Amino acid sequence: MPPVDVVLVGFGWTASIIAQELTDAGVQVLALERGAWRDTVPDFATDHIQDELRYAVRKQIFESPERETLTFRNNASQTALPMRHLGSFLPAAGVGGAGVHWNGQCWRFLPQDFQIRTHTEQRYGKDFIPADMNLQDWGVTYEELEPHYDRFEYLCGVSGQAGNVGGQLVAGGNPFEGPRQRGYPLPPLERSASTVLFDKAAREVGFKPFPCPAANTSRPYRNPLGVQMGQCTYCGYCEWFGCGNYSKASPQTTILPVLLRKDNFHFRTHCNVTRVNTDSTGKRATGVTYVDVDGNQIEQPAQMVVLCAFAQHNVHLLLLSKIGQPYDPVSNTGVVGRNYAYQITSSVDVFQKERLNPFMGAGALGQAIDEFNGDNFDHGPHGFIGGGYIALWNTGGRPILQHHLPQNAPKWGAGWKKAMQENYLTACSIATHGSVMSYRSSYLDLDPTWRDVYGNPLLRLTFDFQPNELTMSGFLTDKAAQIGRAIPGATIHEKKRQGPYSIVPYQTTHNTGGAVMGDDPKTSVVNRYLQSWDVPNLWVMGASVFPQNAGYNPTGTVGALTFWSAEAMKRYLKNPGPLVTV
Ligand SMILES: Cc1cc2nc3c(=O)[nH]c(=O)nc-3n(C[C@H](O)[C@H](O)[C@H](O)COP(=O)(O)OP(=O)(O)OC[C@H]3O[C@@H](n4cnc5c(N)ncnc54)[C@H](O)[C@@H]3O)c2cc1C
Ligand code: SF4
Repeated sequence: MPPVDVVLVGFGWTASIIAQELTDAGVQVLALERGAWRDTVPDFATDHIQDELRYAVRKQIFESPERETLTFRNNASQTALPMRHLGSFLPAAGVGGAGVHWNGQCWRFLPQDFQIRTHTEQRYGKDFIPADMNLQDWGVTYEELEPHYDRFEYLCGVSGQAGNVGGQLVAGGNPFEGPRQRGYPLPPLERSASTVLFDKAAREVGFKPFPCPAANTSRPYRNPLGVQMGQCTYCGYCEWFGCGNYSKASPQTTILPVLLRKDNFHFRTHCNVTRVNTDSTGKRATGVTYVDVDGNQIEQPAQMVVLCAFAQHNVHLLLLSKIGQPYDPVSNTGVVGRNYAYQITSSVDVFQKERLNPFMGAGALGQAIDEFNGDNFDHGPHGFIGGGYIALWNTGGRPILQHHLPQNAPKWGAGWKKAMQENYLTACSIATHGSVMSYRSSYLDLDPTWRDVYGNPLLRLTFDFQPNELTMSGFLTDKAAQIGRAIPGATIHEKKRQGPYSIVPYQTTHNTGGAVMGDDPKTSVVNRYLQSWDVPNLWVMGASVFPQNAGYNPTGTVGALTFWSAEAMKRYLKNPGPLVTV
């Protein structure tokens, strides 16, 4: 294959941003995507995309675990086995990546999240951090990322209410957020009946609820690239589906109409990248090898390689390519695979009398409180690190998977149907969405036994919820229950998260780490610009660079980091070499 300036592995959210930025700078870019081409028309047309059985249950637009999967175990004493249900992650397999079937909850992390070790030590002392917790600063600050958060939010047309503009608190927004330069591009989504209930109850308890920031457009919107989006119809088929209405931000609805017209951008589908190639020094990437749809192994030379393959696939490729020292949990040395983290969720089901019409919803339609996220409260008396937000989302009352029944309701038959009929229109659920810290015992490596269709070792995930996270999640659930009880006439069912972690059920799709960013090559794979310490013409995008996970959904931060890194790449391309030396 003829060489290109830059090859992108994957063609989802991060690849689309990098492609748009670098082609604007005159660079020739090629994206290699393992899945198929797809677009709003015809693939997400509303006459067939709103099919819960086909897409949410049979998971037709996700990575198929029959072809690709990972092995999983809770701890190193167990034997990991290949997973046949990836309910926890639901990675994509097609152009647009998981950006097609995400919900659109578009948060900024808190300023302290980026300096969590320094902040925790200063406020609570070094001894507050458990010995097995690999807590790390990110090497980048909220202030540095702020303009890039802003760019991502304006690209996506995020609907929301600012809480802090230039240091001035704004009524109705999140009073805990870091200062932003301006408000969201669009006003919040309309409230649903259940979010109004949550709002009233949370205020009664003494909290300050605000609308969740949503990459679902509350108004028609033209983004800074000139791409037009339509107003959300609250169809309730965001999460796990493509949007047929051009209202949920995705690569297809925000970037591709501009990118695909450029002569210096190309992409190829059904190209599964299996290696990043390096020269004899191992210090320079020479391109990638991929397997095409006919099973041919093809080499694509490039001056620069950017991994944009979703959190765990980036790490898998680094390990297969033998770039960077693999993590060793026994000695706590090595970096690739280190600091895998996830998130921890729980819920409180609420049964009350008011009719709520749950079927009218949107992926990020919700009302939240942030009092117990990050370090927004004094952790001293509680003895755990981290937190999360508490929200009532109205994503859509889809008939198969979205129903809340009282604890004692029959599980099948006529009794179950009666309970469904009695509760469908009136029940709702308050969710907690909590952080997970990184531990020595949570990591990714290559499985010694199981191999994929190409004969490569599968990625092995070793992960469990630790006492710190279970305690924190229990604390959040109790706070959520307090709000639930304040809803008039409500009975509640508290569903606390219990260990051990199971990869099978859907809970949150946000896995992070394994190729983390930082200031020290001994504890990070990439520097603060997401450039590999070992191979300076290799870059890693996406949540695999998070040193640990925060309480919020990741993609706002993934988007901001991608814009931040794109600026650094432009500097690198003018003057190649490591952007940070230690
Ligand atoms: C069901 C679901 C709901 C979500 N909801 C939210 C939300 O509300 N808010 C939020 O913040 N985040 C959410 N997320 C997460 C969000 O979708 C991701 O953070 C985002 O898409 C990450 O962008 P990315 O570019 O890293 O990966 P992706 O957008 O997934 O793109 C990766 C691409 O790489 C391709 N690829 C992988 N391996 C290879 C290979 N070896 N060769 C070639 N191509 C490859 C994949 O097929 C894919 O197209 C959700 C995710 C899921 C699954
Ligand atoms: S709820 Fe709105 S953004 Fe989501 S799929 Fe429907 S129209 Fe699109």
